[in-house]
Amino acid sequence: EIVYLNGEFVKKNEACLSPFDRGFLFSHAAYEVTAVFDGKLIDFDAHMARLDRTLDGIDIPRDGLAERLKSLHEELIARNGVTEGFVYLQVTGGAYGRRDFGGPETLTPGLFMFCETRNLIGEKAQHGVSAITVEDQRWKRRDYKTTQLLSQALAYREAERGGAFGAILHEDGMVTEGASANLWVVLDADTLVTRNLGRQILPGITRQSVLDHLAREGITVEERAISLEELLGAREVFTTSATGLILPVVQLDGKPVGTGKPGPVTRRVQGQYYRGIGADLDA
Ligand code: PMP
Repeated sequence: EIVYLNGEFVKKNEACLSPFDRGFLFSHAAYEVTAVFDGKLIDFDAHMARLDRTLDGIDIPRDGLAERLKSLHEELIARNGVTEGFVYLQVTGGAYGRRDFGGPETLTPGLFMFCETRNLIGEKAQHGVSAITVEDQRWKRRDYKTTQLLSQALAYREAERGGAFGAILHEDGMVTEGASANLWVVLDADTLVTRNLGRQILPGITRQSVLDHLAREGITVEERAISLEELLGAREVFTTSATGLILPVVQLDGKPVGTGKPGPVTRRVQGQYYRGIGADLDA
């Protein structure tokens, strides 16, 4: 397996980074994860636009980065022979040989990329997953995709310890999103709801793509905060993300969601999205 680190393609186990990197010391880093299906990058431009926004938000220069990233993605995919999976990229504040909160006036970013082969539409998409609800303890700018992921990592550890697949985060009685995915619920009368954008959640690329698909079919979505109570009483729940695409959540805190099986609205959204990338559920 070949990864890309600060200007070079190197073997995965030979990649070395300074421990003084601001990404390592302060989580001063942006990241993106782009799905690859049939050898092609899904929604690449949207991921890069979000990366630019995060970099601007966390004061890391992005001069010339955009032009290089497309070909770096393609080269990494080719070198590793990935046809289905994802590419991960991380832009850090760079390394300066000392731990200094402020650092130099203009940072010189570091760049790390790797890719992985993964079945994007598999068992979990077919049968659904279980999740637990966990208090959202993240910082206040969750709309930036940074590597400050400690609360998500802890939420996943808690889920896994309890035999669940993932976690759904909430604060003050309202649901924010999944630990690494946006959240959608189907309430009575087929009302589809997902949280409105703002500083509280990540503006998911898959979320936007699903919204676009639904709009084309004339299906309305309520974009608003969902209470924990609504979530726990929902008929259907599903998540969207680049690596999971659309995953039905069929069990929450040990209790079945609706019938305990992926519901009709979720199936419809999956069908639409999969067709959009040239796949189907049995792929
Ligand atoms: N919310 C959070 C907190 C995430 O980590 C992710 C996945 N990176 C998402 C939502 C989904 O975003 P996307 O569809 O762009 O992968």
